[in-house]
Amino acid sequence: MKIVVLPGDGIGPETMAATMEVLQAASARYDLGLAFEHDVAGHASLQRHGATVTPALLEKVRAADGLMLGPMATYDFKDEAKGEINPSKFFRKELDLYANIRPARTWTGLPHKVGAFDLVVVRENTEGFYADRNIASGGSEMLITRDVVVSLRRITRECSARIARSAFELAMTRGKHVSIVHKANVLKLGDGMFIDECRRVAQQFPEVNVDDFIVDAMMAHVVRAPQRFDVIVTTNMFGDILSDLTAELSGSLGLGGSLNAGLDHAMGQAAHGSAPDIAGQDIANPFSLILSAGQLLAWHGVRRERPAFVAAAQAIEQAAAAAIAAGEATRDVGGRLGTAATGRAFAQRLAQR
Ligand code: ATP
Repeated sequence: MKIVVLPGDGIGPETMAATMEVLQAASARYDLGLAFEHDVAGHASLQRHGATVTPALLEKVRAADGLMLGPMATYDFKDEAKGEINPSKFFRKELDLYANIRPARTWTGLPHKVGAFDLVVVRENTEGFYADRNIASGGSEMLITRDVVVSLRRITRECSARIARSAFELAMTRGKHVSIVHKANVLKLGDGMFIDECRRVAQQFPEVNVDDFIVDAMMAHVVRAPQRFDVIVTTNMFGDILSDLTAELSGSLGLGGSLNAGLDHAMGQAAHGSAPDIAGQDIANPFSLILSAGQLLAWHGVRRERPAFVAAAQAIEQAAAAAIAAGEATRDVGGRLGTAATGRAFAQRLAQR
């Protein structure tokens, strides 16, 4: 499996270095034969190539079996004409990574304010309110006059149906329960269509229980009783917001792993941003990126029918649980180690399994 590695901005280089130690240990222990191609995206690429991402990099990623993308300073990248392209958007759009899979669970040894839970947010990743990716060319946010902006939201049957399918397929491997999150009381056409498509796909999965929640009420339900949820499927922006909440409820935003998956490509990427406030201090939690790497291995293993990859992914999840319980983690989750030492201890734990 050839993986392109792009460390990114802010806490990206340090969390990616820790993740690489873990992937190397997993490769050795489970005989995965992982090969890494290191390159740059974000500010480092802007300095070197005049653009945050380049066509040559995209070709390299297309030819590989997976991508690990570090956190990006998305907020800094404002003008595409100056090469300031949002790398997350770029890969999600160019590789059609339509399913953003964001698991959140509580961990033994880590206090949780809302009781134990284990859920997955399945977020549509290619349309919705995201103005930089929901039309073929240009952006769908317009300055109508100096004082008026219009932002368009795109919802299609095709994208709704395919994200619903991802959610139901995932639910079949878990608790067989899908919750649809929407705002169909106000966005009657767009979210009405989204619910219709989810319900249509649900008919092909009669074993799966289905319910639906309006997004604002959903925030209260998730805070009050997250254990009632298994798989949550929703549109792009709602999923983005909801999954930060579920990651934080699980103990820390630094535990928020995520996979961006399409039919032919996948990208592991932490759910959080570049956290410039803590960059370079050796305190950032690398678990989000490590868990994302585990998700990437699992995706590859299922797709290529390679059980060793699935076993390695399970081992990463179990090692994360054991490391948190042992305090071999960063301070935000009650641990006693820095970022680099957390990665080293994790790699040793995997090697000894
Ligand atoms: P960006 O502009 O790139 O989105 P941000 O700081 O606005 O960055 P996040 O990176 O999502 O947004 O961070 C939100 C908060 O969560 C910050 O206070 C940050 O320190 C904290 N945080 C995010 N990721 C981690 C992590 N891996 N470990 C510890 N704390 C984190």
